[in-house]
Amino acid sequence: MRDAPGLRRALLAWYRKHHRKLPWRDSRDPYRIWVSEIMLQQTQVATAVPYYARFLDRFPDVAALARARRGDVLAAWAGLGYYRRARHLHEAAGVVVREHAGSVPSDPLAFASLPGVGRYTLGAVLSMGFGQPLPVLDGNVARVFSRLTAVPVSIRRPADARRLWDLAERLMPRVSAPARGPNLAGEWNQALMELGAMVCTPRAPRCAACPVRGHCLAHARGLQDELPPAPSRRAVERVRRAVVCIWDRGRLLVTKREGALLEGLWEPPGVELARGEVARGPLAARLDELGVTARLTDTGRRERHTITHRDITVEVWKGALAERPPRRARLAWLEQGSGRPRPALSALAARLLANGATPDDRRVRAGARTLRRPAKVSSASRRA
Ligand code: SF4
Repeated sequence: MRDAPGLRRALLAWYRKHHRKLPWRDSRDPYRIWVSEIMLQQTQVATAVPYYARFLDRFPDVAALARARRGDVLAAWAGLGYYRRARHLHEAAGVVVREHAGSVPSDPLAFASLPGVGRYTLGAVLSMGFGQPLPVLDGNVARVFSRLTAVPVSIRRPADARRLWDLAERLMPRVSAPARGPNLAGEWNQALMELGAMVCTPRAPRCAACPVRGHCLAHARGLQDELPPAPSRRAVERVRRAVVCIWDRGRLLVTKREGALLEGLWEPPGVELARGEVARGPLAARLDELGVTARLTDTGRRERHTITHRDITVEVWKGALAERPPRRARLAWLEQGSGRPRPALSALAARLLANGATPDDRRVRAGARTLRRPAKVSSASRRA
């Protein structure tokens, strides 16, 4: 970059005048910034805003989040998807309380060692919260850099990502962290991301309105629509599952999911199926493990469901209880319209409830309408 000081001046002047007013931008509170940054990973700004307000109402500081039960944190996150983010944030809050007296650490090594904190989160929280000159790199920033330099680099390729991080380091204003007053490092990072979200967009970048047009090699060479190179798509994995909906007096039997995906969320008992496998046997075995005896019928209903790169087809079965199951920690009856707090549901469970899991379930539909639908996410870019 030939004129880095000129680029910084132009971009910062534009950002100060034109940036969107977003709730986390009024704050220097590192906890609030941290929550926003975790929420914005894989989630669009418009989707995150109401969740952010509700989450902070419920858990206004690190101590409140650390004290909360895992289920309550996941319930506050329900609908945003990518629940590992919430689990890590919750664990990290516990570490902050135990090891840092409840204050988000400003030391990069200490903050980087917290669960769920990668290089992006480190740079975002410490620059915006403490004014430390640490860069960020997300999809928006990578796209801006690729176009400014007219180099076909993609954040998804490790060697390219290293080059992009190097450039982010070089462009970061050399400032010391200010105790008060303007936060140049935080503003710079936000300005880059804002430019990518609002002007230098993935398709049809608005070069005519761009504050750094004069510094942009892609624009000078007419390459803005070709850069960065289109990502090669990750192969979609097709997955078959079956779940069994067991109703008793308007209550649905749910169990806690285990394993990396959706761990800790509740949904009707289910199994993953091999290609061509008939669901009845594996479902009966799963119920047996849970101490439940029920007569199984295939309702014929199929739900399509997508989680990251997995395209999941779920067979919906119905179970008629042979006898009342024993009380177990891994089982819960989901009561509709009781006003009691619900456990955190998977998006599939919410959908099954919202639409009525079987034709017999119409009586519980009305009570299920308040369940949130899964948030729309973008994997191409961190925020927009
Ligand atoms: Fe992006 Fe166009 Fe601005 Fe270059 S001039 S940074 S391509 S919006």
